[in-house]
Amino acid sequence: MLSQISAQDACLSCGACCAFFRVSFYWAEGEAMPPDYVEPLTAVYSCMQGTNQKQPRCIALDGVVGQQVSCTMYEQRSSSCKEVQAGDAQCAKARQAHNLIPLIDINVMTPSNDEDFDQVC
Ligand code: SF4
Ligand code: SF4
Repeated sequence: MLSQISAQDACLSCGACCAFFRVSFYWAEGEAMPPDYVEPLTAVYSCMQGTNQKQPRCIALDGVVGQQVSCTMYEQRSSSCKEVQAGDAQCAKARQAHNLIPLIDINVMTPSNDEDFDQVC
């Protein structure tokens, strides 16, 4: 969980990672996607159309980055899309590039008191 908001809500008002990285994946993952959404990269890798350019923006991203967005092929999105997690380092990098403040994962911030714990009976 992120500070104040759920990860899902954070992504729905962001979309920065869909408009920052080249989103590449093993070509076979693209078989489940609309053909015009996929660009061949190498013999074994493809990427999302729109992400292999200087100012990337995935063709499947709908809406305005930093305001309200949705993925128009969410169920078919690649493993690369699923890898980026709200609050992780990739997320922070993408958000920074879009002048959005980094998200803070409160689970990471919660200190553990397991160390130095003395059982008294
Ligand atoms: S950059 Fe982070 S918060 Fe924004 S959509 Fe991607 S994972 Fe979600
Ligand atoms: S397929 Fe969807 S989740 Fe993946 S980069 Fe494009 S808009 Fe983002």
